[in-house]
Amino acid sequence: MLDVTRIEALRHAPIAPVLHVIDGTSRPSRDGATSEVISPLDGRAMAVMARGKAVDAEDAIAAARHAFEDGRWSGLPPAERKRIMLRWAGLIEAQALDIAVLGVRNNGTEIGMALKAEPMSAAATIRYYAEATDKIYGEIAPTGDDVLGLVHRAPVGVVGAIVPWNFPLMIGAWKLGPALAAGNTVVLKPAETASLTLVRIAELALEAGVPAGVFNVILGEGKVVGEAMSLSPEIDVLVFTGSGGVGRRLLENAAKSNLKRVYLELGGKSPNIVFADAPSLDEAVKVSAAGIFRNSGQVCVAGSRLLVERSIHEEFVARLVRATEAMKVGDPLDPATAAGAVNSLTQLEQNLRFVAEARAMGRGIMTGGIRILEETGGYYMAPTIVTGVDPADRLAQAEVFGPVLAVLPFDSEEEAVAIANGTDYGLAAAVWTASLSRAHRMVRRLRAGIVHVNTYGGSDLTVPLGGVKQSGNGHDKSLHAFDKYLDLKSAWIKL
Ligand code: ADP
Repeated sequence: MLDVTRIEALRHAPIAPVLHVIDGTSRPSRDGATSEVISPLDGRAMAVMARGKAVDAEDAIAAARHAFEDGRWSGLPPAERKRIMLRWAGLIEAQALDIAVLGVRNNGTEIGMALKAEPMSAAATIRYYAEATDKIYGEIAPTGDDVLGLVHRAPVGVVGAIVPWNFPLMIGAWKLGPALAAGNTVVLKPAETASLTLVRIAELALEAGVPAGVFNVILGEGKVVGEAMSLSPEIDVLVFTGSGGVGRRLLENAAKSNLKRVYLELGGKSPNIVFADAPSLDEAVKVSAAGIFRNSGQVCVAGSRLLVERSIHEEFVARLVRATEAMKVGDPLDPATAAGAVNSLTQLEQNLRFVAEARAMGRGIMTGGIRILEETGGYYMAPTIVTGVDPADRLAQAEVFGPVLAVLPFDSEEEAVAIANGTDYGLAAAVWTASLSRAHRMVRRLRAGIVHVNTYGGSDLTVPLGGVKQSGNGHDKSLHAFDKYLDLKSAWIKL
């Protein structure tokens, strides 16, 4: 049960100016620049935050470089890194509700989901990788007797992490956990509209004993401080979750600078495919609605294209509309809310433009399509279902990153696969069917990093998440995440 009294006490609690965390200290920008943090709950300023320039990013990167080179972290016995990271996870967990409320005020995610998916998930992730710290072994190569071939797994150095606003802590921890457990140092840049909780957990990292300079947070605009990071010769690996356009820019800047390795998670247009033989249409309706509308559709793996076999299309859509209209949309600090606020006015306006375009093309807006609760000053949108969408429509091709579902009918498995695979993206997919053979065929044929069967979302840390095609490269979660943060280094020793 959520502690409603505590939530209400924190709803308008004043927030001290939010500063960069560089080399173990909280710092303003060198030029003193700040920006207002606008809450999507009411459109009002909730805090003031440092606004970095390139020089501030360079300070953070220099601190991370120094901390890496002197071995204050990578040189610790792994069991000691583990101990510190476990303490850090414990501190995050102990303050989980406070951190979650701060995050909700900042980015608009409904509190029930935010608590689980943000501080609790970040703590679990940090703990998972902390536990792995002293369980990663090198190898001895199968050579002849006159040689000893060793394969070390060495930290890559300074990791730059640029993260988005939808789940800043969860996604941040997917990068921080393995990067830090592996002995690297990190400079993290949160999104402009969701920075506060990441600063909070950086402060807790220091309290837990993570040495100064090992985990730095730099605040500011992507095109200023993010740009400086991507051009820096001192960042060895850059990990990113966000939009395709920025991902492309990061690759260009890596090529222009030091050829840093760049790992990207760039979202999707994930197909959720319901066959007429789905084991439970009730379950498919309920989970499909949640799979697109929770967190107002601001989920990289959101099931934003619903493909329904034509024989059940009409009935399925009717049920889905009913389920959607029953979802409580609004104040994200109310525990009963199923979908909170859209993160920013810019994002809300972009969502509405997608709907206007679909409407102008004669597509059916079955529910939603409008801004709601405007009197609150907040950025709320009614969950929207659009039918009659053509696979070539922008709504079927481009990521909205909002509560807008495109519904497309299909007649055969062959056609479902063709539509599902017919975008530039390949992050997630789902298939609802009672046929074991069809389920496995679809898992093989769908081009996606994860294929759900008879469910949508809900995977845990044990399986990797990464995209194919233009959804990105590399993987977060699971032990495979270490591949980004550990280099193989060989030794060839003549005996
Ligand atoms: P969205 O459009 O959903 O906000 P973005 O890809 O723009 O997604 O944002 C994801 C992250 O990328 C944010 O932290 C943002 O500040 C950062 N970012 C935006 N532009 C750039 C850029 N030119 N270079 C580096 N990072 C950037």
